[in-house]
Amino acid sequence: MTSAAARRDKILENIAAAAKLARREPSEIQLVAVSKGRTAEEIEPLIAAGQRDFGESRVQEALSKWPELLACNPDIRLHGIGRLQSNKAAEAIGLFETIHSLDRLSLLDALTKEVEKSGHFPGVYVQVNIGEEEQKGGCPIDELGTLIEAVRASPLPLAGLMCIPPAGLEPSPYFALLAKLGRRHDVTSLSMGMSADYRQAVMLGSTAVRVGTALFEDDAQA
Ligand SMILES: *Cc1c(COP(=O)(O)O)cnc(C)c1O
Repeated sequence: MTSAAARRDKILENIAAAAKLARREPSEIQLVAVSKGRTAEEIEPLIAAGQRDFGESRVQEALSKWPELLACNPDIRLHGIGRLQSNKAAEAIGLFETIHSLDRLSLLDALTKEVEKSGHFPGVYVQVNIGEEEQKGGCPIDELGTLIEAVRASPLPLAGLMCIPPAGLEPSPYFALLAKLGRRHDVTSLSMGMSADYRQAVMLGSTAVRVGTALFEDDAQA
């Protein structure tokens, strides 16, 4: 059995090694520990090991376990990484420091209304439907410019671009495409890379990797 803290150390080492190969500074890359489906007991050892950025997919689940953990660890930053319904905007604003899944104008409008009420301004990544998949969340590539401009005109800080490459395909071309879209639109931060492919993502410019399985499970590739 490997501990969560040891798995985290290994992942941070892998991130640093990939960064060096790409002539990047390891400190440019944020490790977001994806804790969806994990209990407070599984999360606590990572907090003890110094992990401060955590990602959750569902607002309801996050509300059920994080308020208590946050009360003890107020410096933790929660990231919303899942598809977000507009009617959850108020709860999402209250909970998340960063939202990685802004993919449409109607959601931006819902979030904007709520930030004006709450005075809390989470950063938002614009999620891109990078593989142009039918059922996938994310903004179509040809509408990206419009959505980025709308975020820039809103009170919400633009955090960067985010993508989830199509399942079962080599992810690197999609990471490279997101990096290219970032350059085209003058966006420097990229949320890309998960357990199976975070090294490639770092090589191709990721500034935030979202890793769940490899942190929480043994023998998930680390
Ligand atoms: C679950 C999830 C992850 C983490 O995936 P792993 O393969 O477990 O590392 C990353 N990003 C999003 C959007 C997810 O839903």
